[in-house]
Amino acid sequence: MNDTILIVEDEPKIARLVADYLSKSGYASDHIDHGNAVMEWLEENQPMLVLLDLMLPGTDGLTLCRQIRERFPAIPVIMLTARVEEVDRLLGLELGADDYICKPFSPREVVARVKAVLRRSHGITGTDEATPEGDHLTLDEDGWRAMAGSEDLNLTAVEFQLLKVMMHSPGRIFSRDQLMDHMYRDHRIVSERTVDSHVKKLRRKIADVWPERDIIRSVYGVGYKYQPEE
Ligand code: CA
Repeated sequence: MNDTILIVEDEPKIARLVADYLSKSGYASDHIDHGNAVMEWLEENQPMLVLLDLMLPGTDGLTLCRQIRERFPAIPVIMLTARVEEVDRLLGLELGADDYICKPFSPREVVARVKAVLRRSHGITGTDEATPEGDHLTLDEDGWRAMAGSEDLNLTAVEFQLLKVMMHSPGRIFSRDQLMDHMYRDHRIVSERTVDSHVKKLRRKIADVWPERDIIRSVYGVGYKYQPEE
């Protein structure tokens, strides 16, 4: 395993922009612009992560993601898609990608996601500095309490459940349906609006402590996710 990131992207501008930002954050990268060249390249090189565009000339991103999972299960994959609606479909296919990013994305966002996925899969933090104490969101699962640094967020049981589910899979996008399943053990029928309203209250409580941070993000048309970076 070397320390480069493979960018598979057929739009040269995007590839260059992402490579620039990665390099500024201390990550070397390689770039492939054709789907057919990827698996062969991976036989020779073991990148620490693959940023994989969905729509490619030659072998498409879906097929490649499956092949990488099969042949190189240790290499994390972040899929880049052009449409947010596509994410829902991709999640349903259970490709095993570690994260999904929608275009247009900011290169900053890509770097943040790369860091998060690497932290999760290798325990590598790159050039990231340690998060200072008091800057963490922590869960006391027995006491059903969530702390932002040393502040108790005073969450309701439902808000706590929501936060817990999302925090257990940082960066993963949950649909409202999936969140509903976790909110009520008795599978009460609630509307998607109910989920929105609980998430809204949860976000407000976090914002009261950390107004500048956007930890629970809404993903338009899909759902929500917990994103600790930036
Ligand atoms: Ca493309």
